[in-house]
Amino acid sequence: MGSTGHGGDGLGSDIQLQWSRIRTRLRTEFGPAVYKNWFKSMTLVGIDGKAAVIGVPTRLRRDWIEQHYRERIRAFWQAENKAIADVQIVIFAGAAQAGEPDEPAPALAAVNGAEAEERDVGAPLNPRFTFANFVVGNPNRFAFEAARRVAESAASPQWSVPFNPLFLFGGVGLGKTHLMHAIAWQIRCNNPSRRLIYLSAEKFMEHFVRALRQNNTMPFKKMFRTVDILMIDDFQFIGGKDSTQEEFFHTFNELMDLNRQIVISADKPPTELANVEERMRSRLAWGMVADVHPTTFELRLGILQSKAEQMKAALPLRLLEFLAQRITSNVRELEGALHRIVAHAQLVGREITVEVAEEVLPDLLRKAARRVAIDEIQKRVAEHYNIKLVDMHSARRARAVARPRQVAMYLCKLMTQRSLPEIGKKFGGRDHTTVIHAVRRIEELRAIDKTLAEDLDILKRILETGERGAP
Ligand code: ADP
Ligand code: MG
Repeated sequence: MGSTGHGGDGLGSDIQLQWSRIRTRLRTEFGPAVYKNWFKSMTLVGIDGKAAVIGVPTRLRRDWIEQHYRERIRAFWQAENKAIADVQIVIFAGAAQAGEPDEPAPALAAVNGAEAEERDVGAPLNPRFTFANFVVGNPNRFAFEAARRVAESAASPQWSVPFNPLFLFGGVGLGKTHLMHAIAWQIRCNNPSRRLIYLSAEKFMEHFVRALRQNNTMPFKKMFRTVDILMIDDFQFIGGKDSTQEEFFHTFNELMDLNRQIVISADKPPTELANVEERMRSRLAWGMVADVHPTTFELRLGILQSKAEQMKAALPLRLLEFLAQRITSNVRELEGALHRIVAHAQLVGREITVEVAEEVLPDLLRKAARRVAIDEIQKRVAEHYNIKLVDMHSARRARAVARPRQVAMYLCKLMTQRSLPEIGKKFGGRDHTTVIHAVRRIEELRAIDKTLAEDLDILKRILETGERGAP
């Protein structure tokens, strides 16, 4: 899940309030008996894109609500919040306890308040990212087991922290976020009273900077230092030597002293986090450091089989093997390929063979066959925009060179496995935050600027095929 406007106003602080108004409307419309029977045990588990995800304790309830009341709930959500266009009903073991009590006791109301606050600060969880949906193989078995240990012990009433912190690391698209969400789901489902915050390092920084700017850091400190489980995703984005790192360090130490569970993910091991202070790096390495390794052919095939089954798509084994062999970069791309193939199959209504896949996925397959280097990207982009290659490294900030430079950084992030600091270094020793900024900017512009979008497509094609650019 990307940073799609969460923490902003649309889906932010009011969401729990909106939810409670919707409950009130359901009670008014259907009467107290129906309400008690069907709606009381519902709980808002999160927002997934445009969908409100609502948990109920049993399959029966889920099916019944799905059939009879979902449309109504959806309409109420729409009326409350235009950003929410859909409702998903899921089975959620914590629903019965976490649902609204008849008469909220003051203590419970306070707990719910704190919980709402945490869910607001934290990022929403993807309902698909559970342990059950995670395919285990040699490359990720250790990380999976470590994650499960943490989740099981934190969810159990007699909680003893098995190891602290748990540090998961590995390349892009290999399942780190999936495992993080799976831990959070299991704890929320089995022990909803645990206070858990899950968010990205970037969001942590944003919240802290905002609190600093508003001169109001107490609530921030208090919230983060009183949780039972703190989970920070993409830790490599924690900034340079600024106060955020300092703040995180203190939070970290306090939680460790209190024996609260900390789970962190990053794209490299603690010792290689170039932007992180030495004292923090060494503390991160104290606990359990678990590596999610690149996938093997067997794991990729297993993942494809499991996803095809979930999508109720009968695809020939030969095709799955072909994909597992050719698309090796990461699981996200593997999933993307599968989705496209299944969509195509449904559209044309004939069996999908390897040959058809080659037609449907030329870009993915070609890309898999070619490795692109940063130097090459810089060269092609400079050619395309007719600027000097040295301007990729220079400090000149004129738009005519700055924009192509940003395009090149964006393509490096997209098409190579290089980290942000490594990319920054190749662009005249720029900071990784400059690269983040460039990537964001180009993503934004791409959506509104047709010429730029075309430029990007052309450049990508040139780089993927290794063809020479236009003369
Ligand atoms: P990361 O955070 O490491 O970049 P993600 O956790 O976002 O990667 O995973 C990318 C996609 O691949 C997600 O849709 C995730 O569900 C899927 N995925 C990754 N590993 C597995 C796995 N072992 N089993 C099932 N799905 C996986
Ligand atoms: Mg991730």
